[in-house]
Amino acid sequence: MVHLVSAEQLSKATERAKSGNLFVQPTSLMRQYRVTNRDTGNIYVVDFFVRKSDGARFGQCTCPGGLNNKVCKHLSAAAAYHVARMIARREANRAARMQQAA
Ligand SMILES: [Zn+2]
Repeated sequence: MVHLVSAEQLSKATERAKSGNLFVQPTSLMRQYRVTNRDTGNIYVVDFFVRKSDGARFGQCTCPGGLNNKVCKHLSAAAAYHVARMIARREANRAARMQQAA
């Protein structure tokens, strides 16, 4: 499990993810993503966790690197997807609240 502390930590892995041919899909579980490497056909599952006591965020990937607690390109690709998804959800919620208030 990797403790996610900064965007910087993910940036190197993000570069690797861009150069690879990765495809991220949400699963039916909250905060879980399936990452497919289109070049190799490998599929890994990435999970994100938020520790309730202090809000610290963690991620885990099922690839060999991820199981060795490395920030792998799958984790990074899924994190980028997850963040974009959370922002979209927040915006949608805000739009819904504004409509209710109007
Ligand atoms: Zn991985």
